[in-house]
Amino acid sequence: MSDMDKYNNDSETSEEKKSTEVSDVGQGNASVTDKEHKKQDDGYEEICYICHRPESVAGKMIHIPNNICICRDCMQRTFDSMSGWGMPGPEGAGGAGGSQFGGIDLSKIPGISMINLSDLNNMGAFTPNNQRIKKKKPAEETNQQTKEGPVLDIKNIPPPHRIKAELDEYVVGQEYAKKVMSVAVYNHYKRVATNTMDDIEIEKSNMLMIGPTGSGKTYMVRTLARLLDVPLAITDATSLTEAGYIGDDIESVVSKLLAAADNDVEKAERGIIFIDEIDKLAKKRNANQRDVSGESVQQGMLKLLEGAEVEVPVGASSKNAMVPMTMVNTRNILFICGGAFPDLENIIKERLNKSSSMGFMADLKDKYDQDKNLLRQTTVEDLKNFGMIPEFIGRLPIVFSLDALDEDMLVRILKEPKNAIIKQYQKLLELDEVKLEFDEGALRAIAGKASERELGARGLRAIIEEYMLDIMYEIPKDDNIGSVTITADYIEGKGGPVIGMRGYTAALEDKKSV
Ligand code: ADP
Repeated sequence: MSDMDKYNNDSETSEEKKSTEVSDVGQGNASVTDKEHKKQDDGYEEICYICHRPESVAGKMIHIPNNICICRDCMQRTFDSMSGWGMPGPEGAGGAGGSQFGGIDLSKIPGISMINLSDLNNMGAFTPNNQRIKKKKPAEETNQQTKEGPVLDIKNIPPPHRIKAELDEYVVGQEYAKKVMSVAVYNHYKRVATNTMDDIEIEKSNMLMIGPTGSGKTYMVRTLARLLDVPLAITDATSLTEAGYIGDDIESVVSKLLAAADNDVEKAERGIIFIDEIDKLAKKRNANQRDVSGESVQQGMLKLLEGAEVEVPVGASSKNAMVPMTMVNTRNILFICGGAFPDLENIIKERLNKSSSMGFMADLKDKYDQDKNLLRQTTVEDLKNFGMIPEFIGRLPIVFSLDALDEDMLVRILKEPKNAIIKQYQKLLELDEVKLEFDEGALRAIAGKASERELGARGLRAIIEEYMLDIMYEIPKDDNIGSVTITADYIEGKGGPVIGMRGYTAALEDKKSV
């Protein structure tokens, strides 16, 4: 047997068979070859010998002897260029007539001269696997959550206090918001699970979250979706436009959700859609011209929020003739809108001042200036004054606000959540067997810097990253280092971190700067 046959997995291949296969290919009929070479799915896919694209990208491969696979595009190109050179057709191809290669008569193999077979002959390392790559595992196999099942089962939704207890592990503070959300989610999924809508129809618990940037709006929704193991789509309201304008049309949020649910319509219909920056859709206040763009997006969202059958493209964000469509019902999809609503505080203050500045009970004008939780007093009227249309607010019955994060909260966010930032760094260094500590002063200094930047908790990671860079770079250099303590002095630029040497860490306070 020749070298070629040694690597050929096809047991029944005879020399004639092979050459007919290849001439079949030459006539554009590759199915015989494909079928015969179809191996069991062992997690590998083949790569085209010419363009090196894998099967998942280039499509089905055509097999020629010597375990070579070529994609159809390359095969076609080969034929095209051959005819361009005025070479003879399949009968005469191969040029030299009776030339033999590994027992095969090349004259019977059309187009084979394009692939330099003499190179292949010398390939000692030509193993059956060198034209194959390992396929990626499907997403769910790597996702442990799906294997273990959700923390909170929506089919048998736990009571609100249990939902809140789960949220407590990840979200620091925001007690009021967590409570409101837990009750809303409980009611929503109870409504979905019972599905017995008699004469008393339970309304949807769509929510409107008001909170400054970096206060954890997206984070809370994300955490909730993860605990419930439901698909989540996050969209920015500013990118949404009416159908027909440049940008994503409103229904694209549903198609995003469908993608998050791996195109499983039933799963998507129980999912959560989070629309951020909803305040940007407000009508402009005190503007002379009528600004309708935001307003009409609000209008367009009404039917989605309430529950409607929408036709969405599968696997794409815009509809066109090439994309298959499917129907998704939004009746059981939980919509959560979020926004910073700047200036809303002034609107509330104005209203409160107006009502309290009359009669004997008149209050001081600046009474509400110091009230940190003024946003909790938001009413539908205030939101209308802000520029949201009444029909839109009417479909978001649960309105609540998040507290602005003060320094104490930021310190807690640094260390308390299950996946707190400093816990993540400690884990990273633990892998190098180095103990990382942050003293209380350092945490306060970091929180102070984040407050100054006014980015809420979002600034924390950026700041820590800055200071940890040197440490992550220097520590692995020296195997003797056993512990590192980040101090306030280091954060304030007045000194370095405290480095402890392995073995006598406790005894030595080697103040060496990295
Ligand atoms: P927003 O959407 O309100 O602008 P994010 O949800 O993006 O803010 O928050 C930014 C980051 O801050 C989150 O990734 C999260 O790590 C952190 N964070 C914010 N609030 C909290 C909180 N209450 N508890 C724990 N982490 C928080």
